[in-house]
Amino acid sequence: VAKTVIALLIALVAAEQSQNRPAPTQTEIAPGVIVFSTAPYGDVGLDGNSIAILSNDGVLVFDTNGTPAAASAVLSQIRARTDRPVRFVVNSHWHWDHWYGTEVYANAFPGLHVITHEKTRAMMMGPAIEFNRPGLERDLPRYLTSLEQRAANDASLQPKLQEGRFFLDQKKNAHLVQADVTFSERLTIHMGGHEIQILNFGRGVTPGDTMLYLPNDKILLTGDVIVNPITFALSCFPSEWIAVLQKIDALDVKVIVTGHGAPLHDKTLLHATLDVFRTLLRAGREAKQRGLTADQAKEDILPTLREQMVRITNDDPRLNANFKTQMVDWFLHRVYDEADGPLTDAISSIPRS
Ligand SMILES: [Zn+2]
Repeated sequence: VAKTVIALLIALVAAEQSQNRPAPTQTEIAPGVIVFSTAPYGDVGLDGNSIAILSNDGVLVFDTNGTPAAASAVLSQIRARTDRPVRFVVNSHWHWDHWYGTEVYANAFPGLHVITHEKTRAMMMGPAIEFNRPGLERDLPRYLTSLEQRAANDASLQPKLQEGRFFLDQKKNAHLVQADVTFSERLTIHMGGHEIQILNFGRGVTPGDTMLYLPNDKILLTGDVIVNPITFALSCFPSEWIAVLQKIDALDVKVIVTGHGAPLHDKTLLHATLDVFRTLLRAGREAKQRGLTADQAKEDILPTLREQMVRITNDDPRLNANFKTQMVDWFLHRVYDEADGPLTDAISSIPRS
């Protein structure tokens, strides 16, 4: 009995801890433009950056976190800064770490408009849900069961287990809110003296990447079109994405806020990322013509990318591993797909070598 009570107490304390997750960090990149970053959920998930643009005439929020709880934490920080309502939510793309918290804003502000690219809305209405389903219904519960068994003999795993359960619970119970406003190339909002351009430059990491540009402040919010430091190339559109990054390069910007990671104050990472993608597109096409498989091409090309990799990773071993998988492997597989014929908007699965 005593053992059960102790286990219960540990579980309660751990549950309390996951509800008391650290507050999001805030970075004010211009007056009234705040980037909120949320801590990861143990080792099972993470959130994209959420950015608020405050004005006398209301608030716009770009990306709404991956869980309602995280969005609530961001909203309470917004409320500590302004009593103006959130009038607009913009969601950058369909990945679940960027929009599963929208309900929090929809519930709090009845007049809210939710905006995204027309293709992103179409993804969110079906394909994105189907893509997430196996993780939610099979992989994550299976992982938590194994973690639970290990945690029974190792109390130090309890916080990780509670974080994992909290994350699963949040994802399963999120009420997904779809956009009521869509655009194809550009939509401009004038709010409290801000000119806010909502832009799509073509297919990049997803079919409907939605970016936000503030021409007066020279601020660009990119979603996952660029990630600091390692951009995530799963199911991307290689040659079109390079064109998107070139259009970004042509913009007059002082600050680039990427989908994850700290804001960028110059174009160094943009150029380094573009450089890697250009190399992979050229070398990948050549390797395919020589008859190599995508996995063989990866082994062939990786050594030649050493210098370009270190520019991005500083030779950090964990970042190097992410670079090799998320930038090189996933991009190259899509170079191969693209070479076989025009890419559809369908989500391609994670390559397994
Ligand atoms: Zn993301």
